[in-house]
Amino acid sequence: MEKPPIIDRLFNSLFEKHEVQVDILREDLLHPLISGNKYWKLKYYIEEARAKNLNTLISFGGAYSNHIHALAYTGEKFGFNTIGFIRGEELATKKLNPTLSDAEQFGMKLKFISRKDYKRRYDVNFLNNIENDHPDSLIIPEGGAGQTGEKGIEDMIHRVQNISQYHYIVVCAGTGTSAAGIAKAVNEYETKIIAVPALNLTDTLKEINDRLIKTKTDPLIIWQEYTFGGYGKFPDELQVFCKEFQNTYNILPDPVYTSKGLYGLIDKISQKYFKMGSRILFIHTGGLQGWRGYTKNLSD
Ligand SMILES: *Cc1c(COP(=O)(O)O)cnc(C)c1O
Repeated sequence: MEKPPIIDRLFNSLFEKHEVQVDILREDLLHPLISGNKYWKLKYYIEEARAKNLNTLISFGGAYSNHIHALAYTGEKFGFNTIGFIRGEELATKKLNPTLSDAEQFGMKLKFISRKDYKRRYDVNFLNNIENDHPDSLIIPEGGAGQTGEKGIEDMIHRVQNISQYHYIVVCAGTGTSAAGIAKAVNEYETKIIAVPALNLTDTLKEINDRLIKTKTDPLIIWQEYTFGGYGKFPDELQVFCKEFQNTYNILPDPVYTSKGLYGLIDKISQKYFKMGSRILFIHTGGLQGWRGYTKNLSD
């Protein structure tokens, strides 16, 4: 699972003109079924479950969740039962979408809960009830978030040789766990971390910054302006961008996160955000299974 990292360099006239070097860490190529940051965020949760002799992994997600998909597969691979609490009780009576159908095939038990209940996913009483119903299980926060998730992301970054050569690392954010883990991993270097949220994350990222600030001033730079209307929003402009990006580099961004992050990065380069000579590493966090949630195919 933990392959050596693959890093591609992107060339185009814009980068040349502004004299910036743009590399991309291809975590989308980590594994055909569990791509990107989701494996790394699960890594130490799995270790924890093993150490505590637990046999079941439980977590939360929306109907197209990359995390749920990854958890189902990883659980099966490492010999755990998995239970996914899925947002939207109405889904129980519908045909499963490809993400959930895969998850079920990988052996996950799906439990559809109302949006109201889903909102309680961080509530101690709610979690205690789940734990009582499912002894011998480990409850993993939505998205594999938390310091245990961050620790795995540190491993993801530590395998990149010469990481300190980069002036900037750009990563997309949903829970901000990956951004926080990367910030910890390069804490001793000058490297700056730029988080590009796929939804409004101002408060969450501020909390992370406050927590990390003990080790470094302003660990995370936040580009909040590339959400394109919010989580899961994928306007035509972004679709066109993905198609062009794939045609140019033969690298496909995902519709929810990396499309917005790469769009933002290129936009900022054209606005001369980066000094000449800047070396930038963009993390392709994977998530390509998420394309199946979009009826409009890129080749349409
Ligand atoms: C989940 C996900 C993210 C967000 O990661 P966080 O650690 O939650 O911020 C980014 N990109 C992709 C492709 C993802 O699936």
